[in-house]
This record gives sequence, structure tokens and C-alpha cells, in this order.
Amino acid sequence: MSDTHPTFGAFNQGEVPTIACFNQASTPLGVDLDALNVAPVWATPAKLVKSKGFLKGAWAMVFLDDADTAGALAYHDLTPDGLPESKVFVKTTLDNHDLVSVSASHELVEMLVDPAINLMTTGPDPKVIYAYESADPVEALSFPVNGISMTDFVFPAYFEAFHKAGSAQFDQMKKVRKPFQILAGGYQIIFKNGKWSQVYGSAAKKKRFAREDRRGHRSEQRKRRDRIRANPKQIARG
Ligand SMILES: [Zn+2]
Repeated sequence: MSDTHPTFGAFNQGEVPTIACFNQASTPLGVDLDALNVAPVWATPAKLVKSKGFLKGAWAMVFLDDADTAGALAYHDLTPDGLPESKVFVKTTLDNHDLVSVSASHELVEMLVDPAINLMTTGPDPKVIYAYESADPVEALSFPVNGISMTDFVFPAYFEAFHKAGSAQFDQMKKVRKPFQILAGGYQIIFKNGKWSQVYGSAAKKKRFAREDRRGHRSEQRKRRDRIRANPKQIARG
């Protein structure tokens, strides 16, 4: 096997995946999708293209108003070809006083690291399995790329419990000191006692999380066994 053509998480990631980004939200995005090219720290390059809908052979990032948009559209998990798809809920994001660019870069980096939403690892607590979600633990922080706010995200060393505090870079903004640390505004998805749950970086985050509409998010998808493909007919905006 050639080592010049690596295969990453899953799907067709051995190729550099194309991600079709299209807007089904009636709310203006207020963000240029071109700015979403997050540095490939995880060695997971991708090519983002703007489109009017799903593209054959491409992954997708769909912008929707909220989880009720276009009926079941918000609840599917894969493109019509069975490739990774992520959703950004524009109205929900703005209602939460968050930025669309931060939500979109959050989804993008997590999709590239764990496209099938099924990677997990052991960590500091021997009774717990930790989900490979690369933006959640630091999700309250963002940094500007060409003047547009992008989410902070953790580095591979974050999920490697053997690193000593301060011995490696654990996140893009260098705010995380040690593996599996959760910053005040962040959280982690864990599997414990046969169930998925969350641990929070602060009591304030726990409260805020409980108020959020989480339908259609990766945390909900992770709990389910099935993966629903999108139906192209539902895409035609009525
Ligand atoms: Zn996330």
C-alpha cells in the first residue's frame, strides 16, 4: 500500500474531500464561507465549495434556520450519496447570541476529525470513554481569521492522556494546559455506565447547555445507531 495516499477517519477521506456548502436558511449568514478553511492541524484537508444543493461525491455543510427547517431536512445525517453532512442552525445560533462563523467552523473541524461521529478514546477516568469532539471542550473561545471569528479547537495531543501538563500544544489558542481539560465555556460528550452524557467546564455552561435546542446536533446523532440519508426532493425550497 502506498504511504503517499493516507486514509483518515472514514468515508472517502483518503481523497481530499470536497464539501458542498449551501444555504437553506432564510436568515442571512453574515459570513463568507471562504473564510472557513481552518488550519489542517489534524492532517484532514478539505476543499470547500459554494453550491445550491448537494453535489455528487461531495460531503456537505448545510445552513438551516433551525431544527424545524424544511421538515425532516434537519434530522438526516448523511448526504444522498451516504457521505458526511453537517448542519449549522443559523437562527438558533443567532438567538443564542453566538456567531454563525464560529458555529460553522465548529461543525467543520469536528466533521473533518470524526466524519462518522463514532470515534472515542479512553482518558483520565478509567470508567469513562470520551468522544472525539474537537471543538466542544473549548467552544466558548474564538480567534480571528482574516477578520472573521473561528472556533478554537483541540489538537490531537488533547486526546492523549500521557502528555504532562504544559508539555504540548493542546488547542489552537493555547488556553488548554493538559489533556482532556474542559475550559469554562466548554463541555465533553462521554459514555459512562452504558449511557451518553455530558460533562461541563462550569456550572454556567451546564445551565446554558440545558437551555439550548440540541436537535440535529452531533451529540444527538452519536446516541443513535442509524444514519439517515438526505432526500434530494426535500431540498427544493418551497
Ligand atoms: Zn461540537
